Amino acid sequence: MLSTGLGLVAALAAVPFVVAQDGSLTGPTSSSAAAGYSCDPNQCKLPSCNCASTSPPGGLDPSQVPQFVTFTADDAIQSYTIDAVNQFLGSRLNPNGCPVKMTYFTSLNYTNYTLVTDWYVAGNEIADHTMTHVGTPPNDEVMGNLIALNALAGIPLPDIIGFRAPFLNYSVDTLTMLHNAGFTYDSSASASLPVGADGTDAFWPYTLDNGLANDCLTVENACKGNPKLPGFWEIPMYALFDQRGAAGVHLMDPWLDAANGNSNPDDEATLQYMQSTFSDHYKGNRQPFGLYTHPIHLATDYPGVPAPTPTINMINDFLDWAQEQDDVWIVSNEQMLAWIKNPVPVSQLNNIPEFHCQQPKIDSSKQICNGIPQNEAGLVEECMFTDFPFYTCYGCPTDPPTPSNPNPDQSNKTQTRHRISSNCTTAFWDPVQGTCLCEGSSCQYNDLTQAIGPNGANLTGGGSRSSLPTPKASNFNGAADLVLSSASVAGVLGTAVVGVVGAVMGWTLVGI
Ligand SMILES: [Zn+2]
Repeated sequence: MLSTGLGLVAALAAVPFVVAQDGSLTGPTSSSAAAGYSCDPNQCKLPSCNCASTSPPGGLDPSQVPQFVTFTADDAIQSYTIDAVNQFLGSRLNPNGCPVKMTYFTSLNYTNYTLVTDWYVAGNEIADHTMTHVGTPPNDEVMGNLIALNALAGIPLPDIIGFRAPFLNYSVDTLTMLHNAGFTYDSSASASLPVGADGTDAFWPYTLDNGLANDCLTVENACKGNPKLPGFWEIPMYALFDQRGAAGVHLMDPWLDAANGNSNPDDEATLQYMQSTFSDHYKGNRQPFGLYTHPIHLATDYPGVPAPTPTINMINDFLDWAQEQDDVWIVSNEQMLAWIKNPVPVSQLNNIPEFHCQQPKIDSSKQICNGIPQNEAGLVEECMFTDFPFYTCYGCPTDPPTPSNPNPDQSNKTQTRHRISSNCTTAFWDPVQGTCLCEGSSCQYNDLTQAIGPNGANLTGGGSRSSLPTPKASNFNGAADLVLSSASVAGVLGTAVVGVVGAVMGWTLVGI
């Protein structure tokens, strides 16, 4: 228990019903009785429908199923957080020789838009986490995030398909809004029981054709068939369990928790239960295993905060260990869903286009502001806002985007940057000229994908722990270092404080 949260406990005890938390669980959030779930697999069929089930999709035997590891990050994309993620994933490879990918649930306060562009063009998934980080968000917080990421980072709208609620605080209305807006999935619900427990809620990702089957004890009016949202997916967040089993539950940033009923976090104890939980998944039905991070807590260069080096090494030790085992793939949610919709045996994963690694074929000498460092050097503009300055290829707006105006007019009247057109993809779009180097199938890529075992003898991943593969994000593109004003440092600290408060809220409110 965080003693600093006690005041908050008193303040919040009057809240009548609490839906979720920011990464801390104290016990089960669902039960078979509360779920009241039924689904007929003869009616609900892939690729558009999948029943909530602990068994792998497509009737595959677990030995033919990839063990997915989803490493997700939440909140602002900035130099500290991108560097923090890179130190774990930057040079890791999957068994087909492709760089591993991840999903970043992006909120926009303190986000540096050009880093979003670069992260996306490097192959990662950009997903929605509201504009200003609010739980049970109104429509404009969710839709404004899409509009601003499209306008200022050049992310194609059809590629922003996922959502996670800040503080994991969502309602039936949130899910319904996401479905109506055309999102493919939500990933805010918890799988709060061990995979081997009776009545476990550790379901493979499923569609809500027959309602939600997770968080049935905590989300009002959910479950027992509700909400019915055909074709809309829930990707549960799979909890980890220490030596206490179901009573020793951990979800986000598990390295910040004390394990086994102890009073302080202990990297050795965390590593032990991360491994044991992973093995329970791997030796069982291979439900995905998640590491759900707020990477700011793992930053090495954050002003005034010592680098958590032992914890960083522990997480890399875990990933090294996991990747030494056959058929382990570190993937984005988008990749995982592509496989679930088309569940081929793990030896055939290269048959799914999302698992290929394709580099855009663009002459490195070409000057184009496209998310590839050598191409966009010198073209990125700095937008000097007081609270959180950012860089973008897409023209500085007159004001920072807000939910009421997520796409303000451009301020630079001498040279207007062109927003990405709907028939182009980011790496090939030139925001300066307003032209697309290619359209549709005419775009050229180098495919670096290699064969997966036994002929290629590659069943395991590799690359091990990384050194940073790219220049530090803070002096990216050869631009001058992003000099943080005291206001922007305070802003970044504000983000961290919000996270801490959220964790305290979660800890105290679950089970009320
Ligand atoms: Zn968040």
